[in-house]
Amino acid sequence: KRRNPGQTEFIQAVQEVAEDIFEFIEGKEDYHRWQILRRIAEPDRIVSFRVCWEDDNHNIRVQRGYRVQNNNAIGPYKGGLRFHPSVNESILKFLAFEQTFKNALTGLPMGGGKGGSNFNPKGKSDGEIMRFCQSFMTELYRHIGADVDVPAGDIGVGGREIGYMYGQYKRITGQFTGVLTGKGMEYGGSLIRPEATGYGAVYFLENMLKTKGQDLAGKRAVISGSGNVATHAAEKINQLGGKVLTLSDSEGFVHDPDGIDQEKINWVKAHKTRRRGRISEYADEFKNATFHAGQRPWGVECDVALPCATQNELLGEDARTLVRNGCIAVSEGANMPTDLDGVHVFKEAHLLYAPGKASNAGGVAVSGLEMSQNSERRSWRESELQQMLRDIMDGIHERCLEYGDRGGGYTDYVKGANIAGFKKVADAMLAFGVV
Ligand code: NDP
Repeated sequence: KRRNPGQTEFIQAVQEVAEDIFEFIEGKEDYHRWQILRRIAEPDRIVSFRVCWEDDNHNIRVQRGYRVQNNNAIGPYKGGLRFHPSVNESILKFLAFEQTFKNALTGLPMGGGKGGSNFNPKGKSDGEIMRFCQSFMTELYRHIGADVDVPAGDIGVGGREIGYMYGQYKRITGQFTGVLTGKGMEYGGSLIRPEATGYGAVYFLENMLKTKGQDLAGKRAVISGSGNVATHAAEKINQLGGKVLTLSDSEGFVHDPDGIDQEKINWVKAHKTRRRGRISEYADEFKNATFHAGQRPWGVECDVALPCATQNELLGEDARTLVRNGCIAVSEGANMPTDLDGVHVFKEAHLLYAPGKASNAGGVAVSGLEMSQNSERRSWRESELQQMLRDIMDGIHERCLEYGDRGGGYTDYVKGANIAGFKKVADAMLAFGVV
């Protein structure tokens, strides 16, 4: 706390990991002597820069951009860019720290990073978005590269923004390389990247349920968010026979007792992305659905829950409500959506609880596959990629079981993910010595 004053999200993330790692490294002299955890918790570097752009009314705007390069022990820095007014150094440091473990868990050679800006894309015209993205990349380009640091999308950064940034990178450097992932299919993107995080979170959920001899058929799911991760998680829940009861955005949640089926999901996707609409309008569109302003969906009775919006959106009290209502499994699509209190509630209740660094790794995994395809200068088939995503999620689940088995049929997935991710990065760092 003394080293990172005021950085609450970052401290929270490190604390959560440290609780598990201290136990694991007890008696393991090398990890102590070489100060591995302390080194992973100190980013390799943080770049902060001015992003200046002109809005449609010819006002000059000044924003702050960042790239946190946390650790590249096992591969180039890799992690998304977030455009949201809440972005600050603490949030990006927490995300880059988490990303380091998540990327290690995938089994692919990727280090951890994260970046973004406090720019608010809401209500901005297409021209404004383009000018902002170009200005952002005009500084960022000197810090990234296909073998150095490969950013991707995150909240507020989708295919359109990646396109504008990639175009600017290409214009400045004259190079066509796999420097960003989440690209359009026309210029080096990978099939199934948009679906990968949401689908992967549901595959992970399915794997957890399987350990109890259960599946998703007939299960009621409560999902938060209505962006990329939430809508694709909802899609896969439907495909596997479950029923989705809720979606949300920063203004509240919708509850549809009839179930949010594929047709309704398609409406949400178009509404939230192309029309830039609000989820509240869902209740005007579909009968029996209700909108609950300013609330989160965790009070709706369910069998499984998937927080897919943002950090700290599921607090201790929400966790207690879920447990009380009989929820048996939680798979995080978002990064650190559950606060520390909530994590402890799930652990004490022996719920099947998957932390985002394990369950939402499908997205970055397919980004890793996009990097491989770019290096090979070819595109793999959808069926191949679907299988690889499945295999990667199965592998992550296996690693969590290996290190998270607490006996008596209970797996602590948080511990499993933390230790498995840490061990891979730590062992690489030990091999390098003090660098
Ligand atoms: P999107 O921008 O597509 O969607 C974000 C969703 O979360 C929107 O519905 C948004 O509502 C809602 N939201 C954002 N901030 C808040 C808030 N403060 N309170 C309540 N709701 C909020 O982002 P993604 O779906 O891509 O990302 C969602 C989460 O998943 C993030 O935590 C991200 O880091 C994580 N993630 C994403 C991956 C990916 O592949 N996209 C990969 C791994 C993790 P509104 O429209 O009102 O802003």
